[in-house]
Amino acid sequence: MNESLLKEKARAIRLLCVESSARTNSSHLGCSLSMADLMAYLYFEKMDQTTDSFILSKGHAAIGLYATLYERGIINQNEFESYHSDGSQLLAHPNHYVNGVDVSTGSLGHGPAIAAGLAWGKSISKQTGTVYCLLGDGECQEGTVWEALIFISRGLFNNLVLIIDANNYQGFSDSSDSLFAQQKLLGMLKGTGLDVREVDGHNFSEIHRSLSDPLAKPRILFARTTKGKGVSYMENRFEWHYKSPNPEQLAQALEELK
Ligand SMILES: [Mg+2]
Repeated sequence: MNESLLKEKARAIRLLCVESSARTNSSHLGCSLSMADLMAYLYFEKMDQTTDSFILSKGHAAIGLYATLYERGIINQNEFESYHSDGSQLLAHPNHYVNGVDVSTGSLGHGPAIAAGLAWGKSISKQTGTVYCLLGDGECQEGTVWEALIFISRGLFNNLVLIIDANNYQGFSDSSDSLFAQQKLLGMLKGTGLDVREVDGHNFSEIHRSLSDPLAKPRILFARTTKGKGVSYMENRFEWHYKSPNPEQLAQALEELK
């Protein structure tokens, strides 16, 4: 693993997210920054672009996905810069007409079930490759997540990794802990019998270690992250689920990230 490359890519993804949010006055910045290290790891270290699949179940963080696809060279500069403008395919939630986006998402809770179907299909047809699905901790309060987990835990296939971006914040409320304690959520996830691992979602060595051994069963990474990671005034501040930076805030954010 080239950790300095991954750090540089995560930093580039965060810069693109902040600049795009400011330019287009779009929301969901804090939850895009929290997942940037996980995205850098998946796209620049882990995933095989021809055989593996990725689904962003927490689709509101679309800018984090588009920034990653742009950094990886899967979408071009013109496409990326059209984000959130009239006529663009780069909507505020992932759209499967965009190169590199297999599934349109954003209606929360649907990603794990779609990922499970893809993984099972690959397994039945003897295709190689792993399906990765990133979801939010608040999203785990959706019932469909648990319907999917019941199916996933039946032992029909191994080739699936669910990654929970556990930033402890969610829309329309405050901390996820205040609604449903993360320790309780973790206990319920472990109760599925799947291979559940806790990691620091900003520590590349930990992420790498947690994904290096072969999948004996579907795996869940409970990745503890910081909402707004990388910009001091956004970190652990709920309002950055919705706000975009004004010019002064943008200047400070760029200064800190650069
Ligand atoms: Mg969250």
